[in-house]
Amino acid sequence: METIRMADLHTQYLRIKEEIDQAIQEVLDSTAFIQGPQVKQFADALGTFLDSKAVIPCANGTDALQIAMMALGCKVGDEVILPVYTYVATAEVIALLGLKPVFVDVDRNDFNIDVNQIEGKITERTFAIVPVHLYGQCANMESILSIAKKHHIHVIEDAAQSLGAVYTFSDGQKLRAGTMGVIGCTSFFPSKNLGCFGDGGAIFTQDKSLAENIKMIANHGQKVKYYHDRIGVNSRLDTLQAAILQVKLKYLTDYETRRRRVADFYDLTLSSISFLETPFRSSNSTHVFHQYTLKTKGIDRDQFRLYLEEREIPTMIYYPVPLHLQKAYASSDYPFGSFKVTEELSRTVISLPIHTEMTDDQLSYICSAIKEFAKHA
Ligand SMILES: *Cc1c(COP(=O)(O)O)cnc(C)c1O
Repeated sequence: METIRMADLHTQYLRIKEEIDQAIQEVLDSTAFIQGPQVKQFADALGTFLDSKAVIPCANGTDALQIAMMALGCKVGDEVILPVYTYVATAEVIALLGLKPVFVDVDRNDFNIDVNQIEGKITERTFAIVPVHLYGQCANMESILSIAKKHHIHVIEDAAQSLGAVYTFSDGQKLRAGTMGVIGCTSFFPSKNLGCFGDGGAIFTQDKSLAENIKMIANHGQKVKYYHDRIGVNSRLDTLQAAILQVKLKYLTDYETRRRRVADFYDLTLSSISFLETPFRSSNSTHVFHQYTLKTKGIDRDQFRLYLEEREIPTMIYYPVPLHLQKAYASSDYPFGSFKVTEELSRTVISLPIHTEMTDDQLSYICSAIKEFAKHA
């Protein structure tokens, strides 16, 4: 049996090696390393896949979030509402821009922002809500969009973990993650569902003039070279990464199927284990399973992890420390105990290996080990 990994980028590469190598070689031969034709070709292809009017590639997912806020005209002191249970990048750019992160607890079922707690956090300084579609499943966008509309605030989606997920509104309309808010952001970090071979990201919007503004900000605030209309940043997707992503985008639907198959296998086998709660599946959103994250109950999670580690089964905790308890983001506004659900999740969740290359042998092995642990738990 192959070594079990949280993500297996090597085997995934080998399966499409010829195509990838050729795409890379073409860029090397052209030496158009910055803004080569592949960048626009990939952006157009992704736009078609997502049904998004504009796709602006950038250097990484964190930059995507920063550029989104700059493009919408954030001002120092503005407040941005976000879930407290997320990857740090979401809060980081808010703080860097001199905005105030306003944390909200999450729903214990889908791990996404608790929409019942958003309105209570809105003030006259609220600039935007940033829902994070955690682990591959969309937040309750119908409620979020209607709250935002009522209060005239922006919705910036963090779709870094959920590219490809489809959200269904109550009127039957279906939209992809990242295309529902005024701006959507994603990441092509290698282990994301659509990953490149380094850093990469993209910004989505359905508003043509906003798209122009985003493009300008991502390119030093210039439309015409050496004429800088506003303060921008240097955030481009390398041609090499775009060429790789162009190839991998063709496989994204297949990758999604492969991830879901792993999740289905785990669900079926682990749902009978009393100390585990398999992931909730929302009726409004498909799940693209960036992570397969279980809740544990009544066991010592560290001991469980150690038991699996001894059997060469890696696991991860996303995330061990919620943002309000991180040194960099701690504030007297949010002492320990402020976000009960998030604090409990960070103590109890565990993520199992899930990727596009997992074999039945590996899955059976992992599940048998867990069942064996259950006998002694
Ligand atoms: C990965 C990730 C990001 C940041 O993406 P980078 O490309 O690593 O900068 C932002 N938000 C979430 C939720 C992520 O998972």
